[in-house]
Amino acid sequence: MTETADCVFCKIVAGEMTATTVSETERTLGFRDINPQAPTHVLIIPKTHYATAADTAAADNGLLDELVSEAHRIAEEDGVADAGYRLVLNTGTEAGQTVHHVHCHLIGGRPLSWPPG
Ligand code: C5P
Repeated sequence: MTETADCVFCKIVAGEMTATTVSETERTLGFRDINPQAPTHVLIIPKTHYATAADTAAADNGLLDELVSEAHRIAEEDGVADAGYRLVLNTGTEAGQTVHHVHCHLIGGRPLSWPPG
């Protein structure tokens, strides 16, 4: 866990950058993606800075479970849970991770193709 001063998601957690928050628990925050790829596109993050899902799992057993549980709860709230939704944890540059503070994408509200690009 190495919090960086220029981490945009740490800034959102600290209230230094705005985001459209949809959920907050003691350890997690959910907010709408600023560049949504589907009618529901929410990012669920731990408030503590971890770069990747693997780092999160290694440091804090159970925190990834909380991200997934929150994602499912938000999917239900948004009315996309029954139709189906996708959870994505981009990890590393080649997978398209651009923000190096672990985040679980919740994407739903439209048919999603597979494989991803
Ligand atoms: O998985 P990846 O790192 O590519 O995703 C980062 C996501 O964070 C992007 O979908 C981007 O639109 C979103 N983002 C955001 N608010 C910011 C900065 C990035 O929702 N302030």
